[in-house]
Amino acid sequence: MAQEISEREICVKERRLAEKANAASLFPMIWETIKGLFGEAEEPVFKEEWKALLETTVPVVSRLPEELKLRLQERVGRFVSSIRFEGCNGLELTDEMVLTVAAQACLLVLNREGNPYPELKTVYLYPTTFSSVQKSQDAMGIVTEGEVRRLGESWSTGTIVLAWDSVERGARNADDARNVTFHEFAHQLDHEDGDTDGAPALPSRAAYRSWARVFGENYAEFLELVESGKPTLIDPYGATQPAEFFAVVTETFFEKSKQLARKYPEMYEELKGFYGVDPGEWGE
Ligand SMILES: [Zn+2]
Repeated sequence: MAQEISEREICVKERRLAEKANAASLFPMIWETIKGLFGEAEEPVFKEEWKALLETTVPVVSRLPEELKLRLQERVGRFVSSIRFEGCNGLELTDEMVLTVAAQACLLVLNREGNPYPELKTVYLYPTTFSSVQKSQDAMGIVTEGEVRRLGESWSTGTIVLAWDSVERGARNADDARNVTFHEFAHQLDHEDGDTDGAPALPSRAAYRSWARVFGENYAEFLELVESGKPTLIDPYGATQPAEFFAVVTETFFEKSKQLARKYPEMYEELKGFYGVDPGEWGE
């Protein structure tokens, strides 16, 4: 137990260091780790043997039309050659782990050119839920800090933290609308325009207006539904705040697409436009 705690502390320390330090000083050491896993990956590369691995670890990939499969492979190649992966608490990274994260992250950016997540630098993977310090403020303005267990985190400073067992479970169950990787990477997209507010970067003012109306109306209705205690298609955690709503609706968009399209057609259209894909049309 003592060993586990000290390893966790080391990893948290590494995380903070990596955030603050000049990338140049850490880069050679970390690059060695990536090279060990993926070979000389200066150029985006998607290895032949990853194709089969992807379809077993992330079954939704086997449903994709051929054209999207190829695009996903190209995106995954870019992702693993541009983003650093670090195992925490003694987790030894494998191709399977890196590919499972990368493939799900890239499903969200299939319609993008260039680097899939230009602001993301590092993905930290823990074996299971990890602890994180959460600050909260009461009505008197008193700030307290407490430790919480988490499955994932997305930082606006270019970091994603994930629990591998949750990532794996989320990938294997492609129809339950519970997917921590989609969730955290949706937050990462939401951060990109500078505000984590449930509206990602959109191409025009008209697009923002439309998004604000559709998500605003649906969020208000959703809050009432959650308050009434009725069962919801979308995870009730989305009622926490608009940013969480966008993240859980993203999970639903990719994993309960047809139900979302039926129940929330306008939101489905907005997401279809933003993600540039229509998961409701993918195979069973
Ligand atoms: Zn969240």
